Amino acid sequence: MRVLVTGVAGFLGSHLADRLLAEGHEVVGLDNLITGNADNIGHLLGHELFSFFNHDVTQFLYVAGELDGVLHFASPASPVDYLNFPIQTLKVGSLGTHKALGLARAKNARFLLASTSEVYGDPAVHPQPETYWGNVNPVGPRGVYDEAKRFAEALTMAYHRYHGVETRIVRIFNTYGPRMRPDDGRVVSNFIVQALRGEPLTVYGDGSQTRSFCYVDDLVDGIYRLFLSDRIDPLNIGNPNEFTINQLAELVLEILESQSGVDHRPLPVNDPKVRRPDTTAASELLGWSPQIELRDGLLKTIAYFREVLDLDSART
Ligand code: UDP
Repeated sequence: MRVLVTGVAGFLGSHLADRLLAEGHEVVGLDNLITGNADNIGHLLGHELFSFFNHDVTQFLYVAGELDGVLHFASPASPVDYLNFPIQTLKVGSLGTHKALGLARAKNARFLLASTSEVYGDPAVHPQPETYWGNVNPVGPRGVYDEAKRFAEALTMAYHRYHGVETRIVRIFNTYGPRMRPDDGRVVSNFIVQALRGEPLTVYGDGSQTRSFCYVDDLVDGIYRLFLSDRIDPLNIGNPNEFTINQLAELVLEILESQSGVDHRPLPVNDPKVRRPDTTAASELLGWSPQIELRDGLLKTIAYFREVLDLDSART
């Protein structure tokens, strides 16, 4: 296959490109690098099946030649990023999804939307099955991301129903691993970077809120299987093992044998109190379940951050 990946220099986009190339496909990558990092695809430059274009997907999109797939991963995705780039987040979810769907339609290509567990908002149903419609505050600070992705899902289904585009929608739950930015503000990257620097871990609120953390290789495997499947309805991909933020902090401190302790900070507005995917559909349809335990995934992620932080301190 020859496929386009938007957001290819991001955390997930770059791992997805690696997997697609490893499967023998050709990857055309786009990114405007506002939250993506060119270092994430540095190892791919020069690969004969990979090409990269610095382009904003909300602008007119022209790609020469045939395409079999369009995988739309461009978007700020950490709460800190989408608070810093609220308009860009709304634009890439709406205008960017429109452009990417239009391209898929013109090329007769299969389209996959990277959606999110944020479509469920602060969920009143737990764990969250795909059939749950969500509990989102449209005008809260997170609304820029949540509503952009909800709109993107609606647009994707409209292109499927009215134009017959072959579409797939993955709802991605919290994911971690190498190539997260040290400053992206997410909890796993924050805690690891803070512990490595000997700083206290910033726990927001009382730390009783929960998340379910999926290692990036597991996530990409689920997405690849979904892309090849015939599932049209949205599908949750994420790790169903649920932890409180306090438990995560304890685990990071224990693994790193750190005495840093924790520093409580205010809970961000509309921060979901619980989150855990119901992955019954993914396991039944795709035979998929995550393989990597949190401790093992954290070890791999810590090794990555050690390297990145060493490089940073060598530069300064
Ligand atoms: N969080 C925290 N300390 C941090 C960063 C995040 O306690 O330094 C909390 C945050 O309030 C949320 C959870 O960790 O309850 C996950 O936050 P993240 O930003 O990773 O993503 P979210 O799941 O909220 O989209």
